[in-house]
Amino acid sequence: MDLRRQYKRKNLILLGSTGSIGTQTLSMVERWPDRFKITALAAGSNGNLLEEQARKFKPHYVSLAQEKGARELRAKLRDTDIKVLYGHQGLLEIVSSPDADWVVNALVGFDGLAPTVTAMEEGKNIALANKETLVAGGELIMNLAEKKGVSIVPIDSEHSAIFQCLQGEKREEVSKILLTASGGPFRGCTLEELSKVTLAQALLHPNWVMGRKITIDSATLMNKGLEVLEAQVLFNLDLEQIQVLVHPQSIIHSMVEFVDGSVKAQLGVPDMGVPIQYALTYPERWANSMERIDWRKMDKMTFEMPDKKAFPCLGLAFEAGKIGGTMPAVMNAANEAAVNFFLEGRITFLDIPRIIEETMHKHKVILSPSLSDIIRVDKEVREQIIRSK
Ligand code: NDP
Repeated sequence: MDLRRQYKRKNLILLGSTGSIGTQTLSMVERWPDRFKITALAAGSNGNLLEEQARKFKPHYVSLAQEKGARELRAKLRDTDIKVLYGHQGLLEIVSSPDADWVVNALVGFDGLAPTVTAMEEGKNIALANKETLVAGGELIMNLAEKKGVSIVPIDSEHSAIFQCLQGEKREEVSKILLTASGGPFRGCTLEELSKVTLAQALLHPNWVMGRKITIDSATLMNKGLEVLEAQVLFNLDLEQIQVLVHPQSIIHSMVEFVDGSVKAQLGVPDMGVPIQYALTYPERWANSMERIDWRKMDKMTFEMPDKKAFPCLGLAFEAGKIGGTMPAVMNAANEAAVNFFLEGRITFLDIPRIIEETMHKHKVILSPSLSDIIRVDKEVREQIIRSK
């Protein structure tokens, strides 16, 4: 039976179209033009690439972060019918447009939260790469998904792996999940060595090519911390059911252990193409020509425990998850602010966990926060960190 015949065309809004996940998503759309239609694209500041994408995919709307960029883009696209929007309002307007049923959220950072909420309120399903959304607003997002009957399909490779392993399984038969981590560029380094690492070294991930923020998060292991919190809400788990395992080859993308001791794993070469494709084609699998594992070259797969002393961000994420309420949002905001400072060369690598820890310890938690509580707390934390520098 040809499954492709059963597939209904998906109309997609893509947020973060000029980034690492965004451009890979557009490659999929380009490959299957009869099965996907892009109705809107949003980016931050890369107006040239957005113009190119707009001409190729002919969406109804595009949006940029700033008014000036949008004005320039509007002038360039004046020979088309494409409506050019900007800013937070632009993002909210495009996710509210009625002509799409899916939003692919490939924005980076907390800015992804509000558009996700609006899209879900409008009844749209979400293919989610933007892990910060689930970290900051997990409870709120999952409650909204249930209330609106919309799906959230993960793009993050570890969560896609778990999601795939859970197909056909009963959630109550899961005993734990094993989130794998490459260990990043500084695996095995001591605190003394980490005190001297440079930005250029931190941006050199051994296995994955990604945006700058997630690459730094991978180097501090905060990326794994964010993923622990993402998995906790997405799969409705207790923190004790989540174990992080360093697997430097990045072939096993994560595993699920069931109550009978059986373990299911999802494997593949480290390429975001597979989880992006699965999120777009779910519940189907489509044939592709992406690279396969070459088992002749696979001489070993190794596992080790993460070094929580040298990489305190992982422990901070578990602490934030245990406390709950606004604490994960505070941890996330402090991390985003600290990573920005590190990318600007204003602080050292080890200042990142120090800033996050100090910020978390000052925070008075609000339990079951509303969206406005989360937005306010996020803003306060960023302002507080900027003032202290
Ligand atoms: P990038 O930095 O490569 O891309 C981010 C995208 O968001 C860009 O298109 C950027 O636009 C856009 N953007 C940034 N700020 C705004 C804003 N205010 N308004 C509108 N658009 C904005 O990030 P990645 O693609 O690497 O990551 C995206 C998300 O996916 C992150 O949450 C990350 O953690 C997650 N993820 C990424 C993986 C990867 O392999 N890259 C793997 C798993 C998860 P512009 O460039 O034009 O400024």
